[in-house]
Amino acid sequence: MDAEFTAMVIEEIDGRPGARIKTLRQEELPDHEILVEVAFSALNYKDGLAICGNRNKVARKLPMVAGIDLAGTVVESRSDSWPVGTKVVVNGFGLSEIHWGGYARYARCKPEWLLPLPPAFDLEQAMAIGTAGYTAALCVDALVHWGMEPAAGEVLVTGAAGGVGSIAIVLLNRAGYRVTASTGRPDTHEYLRSLGASTIVERASLMEKGAPLQKERWAGAVDVVGGATLANVLAQVRYGAAVAACGLAGSMELHATVLPHILRSVALLGVDSVMTPMALRERAWLRLARDLDTGSLARMSRVEPMSRLPELAQAILEGKTRGRVVIDVRR
Ligand code: NDP
Repeated sequence: MDAEFTAMVIEEIDGRPGARIKTLRQEELPDHEILVEVAFSALNYKDGLAICGNRNKVARKLPMVAGIDLAGTVVESRSDSWPVGTKVVVNGFGLSEIHWGGYARYARCKPEWLLPLPPAFDLEQAMAIGTAGYTAALCVDALVHWGMEPAAGEVLVTGAAGGVGSIAIVLLNRAGYRVTASTGRPDTHEYLRSLGASTIVERASLMEKGAPLQKERWAGAVDVVGGATLANVLAQVRYGAAVAACGLAGSMELHATVLPHILRSVALLGVDSVMTPMALRERAWLRLARDLDTGSLARMSRVEPMSRLPELAQAILEGKTRGRVVIDVRR
């Protein structure tokens, strides 16, 4: 085990929070029961916010090792449930917010945060899925458990070329749903079709303020954009259908009326991935193991070194990242 290792740390620099790659020592890690040697982390929208956006609101104490998820191997353990050598995945649980996260060669974790690496995936694939992919699975699960049936019609995915969107498209397609992808990037149309989208709509068409009730189009929707887009999606889903909302890539505001809910029995299903109970996490990963083929996963993801995080974080906040970015914490 290395006594010293590198990490992406958010700390006060010249009186303001800033992120930089630093050398840490083992004894600086928090005293949680499990020491994980991290193989890969990932780049999620929230990581972008933590590194170069709204830092104070993601990292709630400093110094903070960034990275909201990780995949690696247990190398030290004070828990019988997690012997040395176990491969594990961690999503959320306050990593990069109140607990040191995955942008480091080593992380100390509480036993209750860990999920065994699903046998369908290796450590790199687990982070190609990462929090965005697992959240996409939570959204699809929420819609299916609401009662959304493949025969009901088209399901809309907004922010389609991003991480959550790309994986939601594959999962819905494999589960038998017809998928319409909403994107602002014409150069991603072919990519979105290759993932399983049958129709593509221009995202600008959903961003203008619209009527509270519009033509019923969608049998359900996964929304990562929020704002006027979510208000329009709620106004366009069919009677009795649901929208799973997990994101704010466009806006955290929601100015809408109650009409879709009280006249069409439309449901707005909120999806949080950070404090999700373990049973729902396991169900989401089972869905990923069943429906996310590794060919699609390879097509939508790439590996980048931790040293490139500052520019990658900026790019994801600007909506320029296609699919998923895995972070190799050894480079
Ligand atoms: P990405 O940046 O990979 O994807 C977001 C996509 O949204 C972009 O690719 C783009 O899609 C679209 N988009 C970006 N900016 C705008 C804009 N200003 N207006 C309209 N559309 C825009 O991020 P992730 O997939 O990692 O995350 C998506 C959202 O989900 C984020 O808000 C994130 O915080 C949230 N999230 C929430 C979780 C939870 O626990 N609730 C967990 C994980 C993610 P395109 O180019 O195709 O139009």
